[in-house]
Amino acid sequence: MRLRETAEALETGGSLLEREEAVLEGYAQRTRDSRGRQYPEPAHPYRTLYQRDRDRIVHSAAFRRLMYKTQVFVNHEGDHLRTRLTHTLEVVQIARTVARALAVNEDLAEAIGLAHDLGHPPFGHAGEEALRSAMAAHGGFEHNRHGLRVVSQLEQRYPEFPGLNLTWEVREAFAQHSSQKDAVEWAEFDLSLQPLLEAQIVDAADSIAYNTHDLDDALAGRLISLEELEQVPLWERAAGQVSARHPRLAGGELSRAVVRLLIDWQVGDLLETTRRRLEELEIASVEAVRNCGRRLVGLGGELGAQKAELERFLFEKVYHHYRVARMTAKARRIVGELFEELCGSPEQLPPQFYRRCATDGVERSVCDYIAGMTDRYAQEEHLKLFAPFHRV
Ligand code: MG
Repeated sequence: MRLRETAEALETGGSLLEREEAVLEGYAQRTRDSRGRQYPEPAHPYRTLYQRDRDRIVHSAAFRRLMYKTQVFVNHEGDHLRTRLTHTLEVVQIARTVARALAVNEDLAEAIGLAHDLGHPPFGHAGEEALRSAMAAHGGFEHNRHGLRVVSQLEQRYPEFPGLNLTWEVREAFAQHSSQKDAVEWAEFDLSLQPLLEAQIVDAADSIAYNTHDLDDALAGRLISLEELEQVPLWERAAGQVSARHPRLAGGELSRAVVRLLIDWQVGDLLETTRRRLEELEIASVEAVRNCGRRLVGLGGELGAQKAELERFLFEKVYHHYRVARMTAKARRIVGELFEELCGSPEQLPPQFYRRCATDGVERSVCDYIAGMTDRYAQEEHLKLFAPFHRV
């Protein structure tokens, strides 16, 4: 069936596939080499498989909900802070730039990037921790595993199949990104192989995006000061360069210019380092990428070490700031109480989740329901269940 779809695509979307042949390097994943979809579908006349994946993700409910899901700072703390949606868009921008510059499949990188955070529950990592401990005895919870569940089962948009029926390559990216390599969800993937370059690029772009924008948001939210950042060598070097060019720049204007430069440096270094590795290791095919035994997309040693220092700073000063700790504690309480209450009397679940209890178990169904919530929906639901005079 997969062959049929690919063969049809050759006829109908043939010009797009020819374009891929013309622009992509040997180590890029081509549409014609896709392992295809779980449920066979006729080819589309003017979109490749990965372009269709991208569109399906953007049209999904889980994608729209990223708008009201916490990245680091809860959504209601400020309208200009990153949410998971704007974070996702930043990741995709960087990933597409890198993919295009390396002549790998930009459409595939875009689809993987758009999907990469779909499995995140409300309230960022606090929400994930709460669900992980609640589900410890019921199969566990991890956002990549849940992401795959969202795109293969929970999204309901098509009468012909459950989920979004994405290509094997986009689904594999969830598995490759997970720290739980032996999870049952990954049975169809071989995780002893390296991820495709397109997936490696999204990983690297994710990390560049969140480090720099967490800095930016933490400065805007006054969790950290420019003075404190003087102890971070990477920041100091960038600030020095900006100040040399614009000596009178200060405050927010200075920090925004520094953040911009930090992204630019990292993306430039990433490209240069990755190109060098591809060349030195003579990587010329997807198979060589798969069997190379190490990641090919990454920063060079010097910048990588400085970035690690910046991450340590963020960890200490931002992720453990007392205001973040309050958001975290509140989030854990809300998610934990919702879970306990709904598992105790699942008849309070909306019908489509209640029905799943019979097949998927009460805990998993409650977990699916909670993981799909936005921050504000979870808070509202908590009021509905616990505040005596709140409307239900
Ligand atoms: Mg991310």
